[in-house]
Amino acid sequence: MFSIKAMVEDMRLFHCANDEEIKSGKTTDVYFVRTKQILKAKGMDKIRVTAEVTVGSLPENWRWGILCGIEEVARLFEGCPVNVYSMPEGTIFFSHDSAGFREPILFIDGPYGSFCLLETPMLGLICQASGVATRSARIKKIAGDKIVLAFGIRRMHPAIAPMLDRASYIGGLDGVSSLIGAETIGTKPSGTMPHALIIVMGDQREAWKAFDEIMPPDVPRVCLVDTYLDEKVEAVMAADLLKEKLTAVRLDTPPSRKGSFAEIVREVRWELDLRGYKHVKIFVSGGLTEESVKELSEAGAEAFGVGTYISNAPTIDFAMDIVEVEGKYAAKRGKLSGKKQVWRCPSCFQDIVLPFSQQGPKCSKCGGEMVPMLKPLVKDGKIVADLPKPSEIRKYVLDQIRSIPYM
Ligand SMILES: [Zn+2]
Repeated sequence: MFSIKAMVEDMRLFHCANDEEIKSGKTTDVYFVRTKQILKAKGMDKIRVTAEVTVGSLPENWRWGILCGIEEVARLFEGCPVNVYSMPEGTIFFSHDSAGFREPILFIDGPYGSFCLLETPMLGLICQASGVATRSARIKKIAGDKIVLAFGIRRMHPAIAPMLDRASYIGGLDGVSSLIGAETIGTKPSGTMPHALIIVMGDQREAWKAFDEIMPPDVPRVCLVDTYLDEKVEAVMAADLLKEKLTAVRLDTPPSRKGSFAEIVREVRWELDLRGYKHVKIFVSGGLTEESVKELSEAGAEAFGVGTYISNAPTIDFAMDIVEVEGKYAAKRGKLSGKKQVWRCPSCFQDIVLPFSQQGPKCSKCGGEMVPMLKPLVKDGKIVADLPKPSEIRKYVLDQIRSIPYM
């Protein structure tokens, strides 16, 4: 008999795959399912291959990317009878090595039939997260020691908020706005106040006062100062009201009023300084990009809320290709055969791709030791790499982006 209860239990409220569906390959492309079926029928599904992941070019002329999503890749291959080598999560990678050869960021060794269904989810785990982490790292490199917060989850499906916030944080941002994102990275969520609070309360001063009254002392007092009046008028109003308790004023000026946002920032800075409010920082948000963060930073902004630009970062088009079959060279046209290792000089970011068994040379620039970048991640289905905490990965990213001299 038709059961409403069963229907309700099967029903999914939101359009997203769950852990089990991802692990089992339900999100894969059907041609892999067909391939597996054919190989199995012909008794060829146990043929061992090496498949590597590379990218032909990076979006928007980026010269490097930040690898993100590796912890999830480890979880995806856990229990699958394969060996996976990967660059550690948070590593700067290039599409090509210093001599122009395509650079693998990861390879998988094992019976093809055992992992072919996982190609699609594996790529999905790293392509999007690495795009988000790279844009975050680029913004953070521009902002330097100034604070950048991730505000972009509202523009993406809520199911991926943890991934987006984690990737933004790993890329070097200082905080994230979502509760679940903050939980994922082990911090507290960051945020200020929405226009809605001021509009509902009907008066900006009442809203700022209520914020100060109700919020615990560890929440920074950041007043939004562009709801009804001019930014410099409201900024001074907020500073007069909260005095030394005021950490920052946030300018979220709408495009129709912007004119020159940098000039507005300068004006607000001037008016605050003049009245002895040098301690009040200027926090800007609303449609920020690499260019505007640079410009507003030069104008005196000290904190940035970056939204869609980061959450909607271009995906990095990683692809997986078989390069060896049963130990024999086998790459298709356009790809390089054989299992490889990427050797890097950590001081100069010089990379050399070599056949896996070959020892790395000295750095051609500084003569220093080069280190192998592809390290064991999964061995016979067991995760063998350390999976560092997001805060440690973020530190690794910040160290690299501080020392790499170009964008
Ligand atoms: Zn070197």
